[in-house]
Amino acid sequence: MKRIALFPGSFDPFTKGHEDIVLRGLQLFDEIVIGIGRNANKQRYFGLDQMVQLIEHTFEKHPNVRVEAYDDLTANVARKLGARFLLRGLRNTTDFEYENGISQVNRYIYGDVETVFLITSPHLAPISSSIIRDLHRYGQRIDDFLPYQLH
Ligand code: ADP
Repeated sequence: MKRIALFPGSFDPFTKGHEDIVLRGLQLFDEIVIGIGRNANKQRYFGLDQMVQLIEHTFEKHPNVRVEAYDDLTANVARKLGARFLLRGLRNTTDFEYENGISQVNRYIYGDVETVFLITSPHLAPISSSIIRDLHRYGQRIDDFLPYQLH
């Protein structure tokens, strides 16, 4: 049976930290679906269609990585995709507190799903999408934090 993992997130924007989790996840899974959650209540900073394209471009040499935008509970999306694994990155104890809660809820909704956490590579731990948005908003270059060129 194919080991499919769903890597869910907002990815606003997708960073080198996220890329690292996907590349390391490929050692564990046959296929990774990067799932961009569409949240009607949350305005994105970087456009969704643009981000889907940039992520697809980042992994164009990896046919076993694909990108999907969704508007549903993560656990439901995983079930529909036949993904028995959720992939998440852990940077620090704040991430842990949050992830602990949602992984319990996801398993309550979809009993067969396991969340697999990868500890961030140390040089990428300070990177967060929210900090990158702030830098960009005030005109700072952010290319060093992204695995693709923004245009
Ligand atoms: P969410 O809105 O669900 O928190 P994010 O797009 O911020 O989504 O992050 C998606 C996943 O990537 C989360 O598991 C988060 O902890 C992880 N992540 C974010 N930044 C990094 C990083 N620099 N290194 C490793 N994992 C990260």
